Amino acid sequence: MTSALPPVSGMSAQVIMDLEREHVLQNYARYPLAVVRGKGCHVYDPEGHRYLDFITGIGVNALGHAHPRIVKVIREQAALLIHSSNLYYHPYQGRLAARLAQISGLQRTFFCNSGAEAIEGALKMARAHGHAIHPEKFEFVSLENSFHGRTLGALSVTGQPKYRGDFEPLLAGVRFVALNDMAALEAAVTERTAGIVMELIQGEGGIYPLTGEYVAKARELADRHNALLIADETQCGVGRPGTYFAYQRSGHVILPDVMVAAKPLACGIPLGIIVANEKAAAAIKPGMHGSTFGGGALACRVALEFLDILEELLPAIQRVGGYFHVKLNELARKHSCVKEVRGFGLMLGMELTIPGKQIVLDAIAEGLLLNCTHDTVLRFLPPYIATERDVDQAVKIIGKLLGKARPAAE
Ligand SMILES: *Cc1c(COP(=O)(O)O)cnc(C)c1O
Repeated sequence: MTSALPPVSGMSAQVIMDLEREHVLQNYARYPLAVVRGKGCHVYDPEGHRYLDFITGIGVNALGHAHPRIVKVIREQAALLIHSSNLYYHPYQGRLAARLAQISGLQRTFFCNSGAEAIEGALKMARAHGHAIHPEKFEFVSLENSFHGRTLGALSVTGQPKYRGDFEPLLAGVRFVALNDMAALEAAVTERTAGIVMELIQGEGGIYPLTGEYVAKARELADRHNALLIADETQCGVGRPGTYFAYQRSGHVILPDVMVAAKPLACGIPLGIIVANEKAAAAIKPGMHGSTFGGGALACRVALEFLDILEELLPAIQRVGGYFHVKLNELARKHSCVKEVRGFGLMLGMELTIPGKQIVLDAIAEGLLLNCTHDTVLRFLPPYIATERDVDQAVKIIGKLLGKARPAAE
């Protein structure tokens, strides 16, 4: 009972964890750490220990924590108007959509609250677009090892059996092809394909970039068969690769029909977007789709402020990301348990020949937050405000832990 609980300020990490274990759905395997506040690139636990945050709430806290300009607009807007629903207009949706059109090359935005919700809407858009051409044009082509979210539609295009298995049957007519296999892609896309869905840099799957030729092939096949090309930029987009979007990276420049983004967009306030060209957007007519919370004044205003700050930060993301990549490669040469370093900008992965979980746990004890995906890939999603000094500190800790790591067989 609430009355029996200690005040929040007096809750130890143990009390926080015990309470959750008793009452919160046990769907997450959390690390044994509670955080109570953050500032810049660091977060603090209830006992006041400081951690360098190189996972940023899985790529959400892109400006770190308590960024003064973000705090300021949240305060101002909370006192004016947080939400008004999509029954009415407010000043910030149109402004944000105009800004997104400018930086994405796509004209029309739909606002929602998460990556999965954005993917759901993009799938509906592709289905409606296909349906208007032929009732049997409803198939999707997606990639093996991909991740697009946890709702049933998003799971249907997620190419990882471990996420899908308990919920099948999912949407019919989804074909999965191997990443960067041009022939497989060509064979899978047909006149029945409504949409091709891809992350240009697979995130959850272990930081696997698509090649420029593969992405160009997807663009060509979508055109040839009048299917929509849907880029899922939820993790790899909005600044993280050093360009606004991964499809703008040099050697990868294409324009998808539809782009989906979410994670860093409003610095922790939930906000997802579908940004589409006029052809794709025309498939959704009044009444066909919606979201009660989507595109509230607070979320949109924060995103506008974030995009202003991001414009100034893009060169730093490229510079610090490049520096981090070099430093991780140096570690890879020194430690035999490192197989490969992959990624771009501030989205980097280090694949190990051993499980990564213990390194993540030991890193917490050393004051560094990262995570491990696909069992063996250490994933780094540092805040865009990270400096070379922050990188040096992270690399020092990782180097120390790699030096202590034992091969799995021993
Ligand atoms: C995180 C992620 C999603 C799902 O986003 P949620 O906000 O958790 O629903 C979808 N696609 C990609 C590529 C992601 O990384």
